[in-house]
Amino acid sequence: MTGPARRLVAELEPYVGDARVLGAIATVPRELFVPPGMEDRAYDNEAMSIGCGQTISQPLVVARMAALLQLMPGDRVLDVGTGSGYHAAVLATLAARVWSIERHAALSAQAAIALAAAGVHNVTLSVGDGSRGLPALAPFDAINVAAATPPDALGGLEAQLAPGGRLVAPVTGPEQRLVLSRREADGTVRRRTLEEVRFVPLVRDPEP
Ligand code: SAH
Repeated sequence: MTGPARRLVAELEPYVGDARVLGAIATVPRELFVPPGMEDRAYDNEAMSIGCGQTISQPLVVARMAALLQLMPGDRVLDVGTGSGYHAAVLATLAARVWSIERHAALSAQAAIALAAAGVHNVTLSVGDGSRGLPALAPFDAINVAAATPPDALGGLEAQLAPGGRLVAPVTGPEQRLVLSRREADGTVRRRTLEEVRFVPLVRDPEP
């Protein structure tokens, strides 16, 4: 681990106790996912602009969301809002395969370059509106949503969880909060509302 990566992990450790997640943060080279010229700040615990009005998420939030998903090495994961691809790379380090969808083709193309440079080969990218998930590839063991989700979009995504599957999403309301959903073995979905967060909005295309 490089010095800056070690400092970042030490900074996150008091808030994220999950050793596998901290290991993933330590191994994914975040300097490959930040905009050119920002490499010297890649291990600051901060979000940054990545173009198209979007941001690469703060490492603490990525680590916290990954820990909430309790990923297992065999898991199939859906990631909505690829952005820089950094969050997808962290998830891919913890799971078997990640399908990540982004509505800006330019960001997806850039993410593909960064993921290849990082040696992450188990992320499949696609371009489009991920607000309705990827029904053709469902069910997923875990779903990560990286854009602020209107509450009425949550059910359609939760429907794509396998039994025992988990979903984490920032959900809009009087304040934006992380919601963790779990599909129980009997098929019911339980939701927990957690801490306040700040994500860019999930932009939905009109119903086809
Ligand atoms: N996970 C990213 C940060 C994402 S910011 C990272 O690690 O860098 C949220 C992203 O969601 C933005 O890139 C935005 O374009 C994308 N987005 C917003 N609405 C979307 C939708 N309906 N489908 C797919 N992507 C969407």
